Amino acid sequence: MNSYVGIAVTFWFLLHASLGAAQVTESSFDRLETALLADTPLERDLEDLTDTIGGRATGSPANARAVDWAVSRFRTAGVKVQKEAFQMPNRWLERSARAMIRGGDVEFSPRVAAMPFSAATPAGGVTAALVDGGRGSEHDFAMLGTKASGAFVLVEQDELKDIDGLFKEYADAAEIESRAFAVGVAGVAYVGSRPNSLLYRHNVSVGVKNTRPMLVIERDAGLRAVRLLRAGHGLTLTAVLDLDTGGPYETWNVVAEIPGTTKADEIVVIGAHLDSWDLGDGALDNGANAVMLIDIARQFARLGIRPTRTVRFVMWNGEEQGMEGSFGYVRSHAGELDKHVMSASLDIGCGRVQGFFTGARPGLVPLVERSIAPVAGLGPFKITDAPLVGTDNFDFMLQGIANVVFDQESASYGPNYHARSDTYDKCDVRVLRQNEIVAAAFVFGFATMPDALPRQSRTEIEAIMKRTDLEQQMRSMGMWDGWAVGTRGRRP
Ligand SMILES: [Zn+2]
Repeated sequence: MNSYVGIAVTFWFLLHASLGAAQVTESSFDRLETALLADTPLERDLEDLTDTIGGRATGSPANARAVDWAVSRFRTAGVKVQKEAFQMPNRWLERSARAMIRGGDVEFSPRVAAMPFSAATPAGGVTAALVDGGRGSEHDFAMLGTKASGAFVLVEQDELKDIDGLFKEYADAAEIESRAFAVGVAGVAYVGSRPNSLLYRHNVSVGVKNTRPMLVIERDAGLRAVRLLRAGHGLTLTAVLDLDTGGPYETWNVVAEIPGTTKADEIVVIGAHLDSWDLGDGALDNGANAVMLIDIARQFARLGIRPTRTVRFVMWNGEEQGMEGSFGYVRSHAGELDKHVMSASLDIGCGRVQGFFTGARPGLVPLVERSIAPVAGLGPFKITDAPLVGTDNFDFMLQGIANVVFDQESASYGPNYHARSDTYDKCDVRVLRQNEIVAAAFVFGFATMPDALPRQSRTEIEAIMKRTDLEQQMRSMGMWDGWAVGTRGRRP
């Protein structure tokens, strides 16, 4: 059913593209759309960022290369661009991680990944009893009793299939870890949620405050350990986590700008994070959306399109380690936040844009609908008027600025999330190009429409927390404390 709509739309676009040059009276958005359907460097840029540069965890040399690469791509396109410094609170990178499971005649070395914000171990590793933590429920910890204290608790997880599963994994892990830390475990070892020996990074829920070695064990070997424990074997786990950790350091967002005309002081931000985790190449998360925004800015510049408001295309950095780049931006741009009318984020891979999260601001819904009206044929689009924590809209939400996260079909996002398998080939570039037209309509719409939502007060932001699950999401992502103590978000 949808495919008929898709074919008709594609045909309309092709026809439209072939007529484009002749239609001198067509609107700026029409010209933008025509240009985006032509042969732009979108795919080559994605190859450069993922195959050539590869995984680019913030603080790594590859990340610094990615920043310079993005600056040069904007500059080559004739777009005004600058690196904007901000401070990362802590350095955390894995050099290597290995483990050994032993007990009686049993001895094997599962492949493991350190969880971001895990503590490093001494060179010889940390050895402790490995105990069966079941699913890490309250009941499971009650059954373990004092055996959990000083031990590595092995926690089984479901295999991750989609984005809903991913949100559940984050929410569950926060509860499991709070139970585990309360009883004084040596560390937590999760049975990997991805098939076979696929490794991935899952942040420790308490972030930089964590003090314990924390790891993910490849699924097949993790399940072997679970079976052995349930068959009565006594096991130990030795974890050897060699990490590059340290204090604060400076890094950069990349901020490109198309200046507005009559309302140049009003700002529309659309951003995607440039950093990734390091096991994979960061194609779905989030290279695809980063190169897409570069491509849209390129066509604005090439066609000389100047909307009424200023548009900032931002490549966020430090996203994976606590959305630090967008937090840095709201600090260094504090004086102009009243004039920010929108901050949109794309961070859900290469699946079709199927809607928008509008942050529990009913007044925003009709504005989003208006912005995407020219691309209705690429829908349907579902607007979910709820807040979403987990990407760079977050600090704008806490500053009371209208914010949107593009909702995308799960496609291959979930199973490859933060995994070794997040590579170029997982992205369907035809879908990415279609998403590009939707994003262009959105940003062009917000940069030209007459109205905009005012910035909210802290009281209004608190009202959103009271009527939605925002506080709970913030707690499970380890993002609550900054708001509660007043270091993050709008002051009263
Ligand atoms: Zn991401």
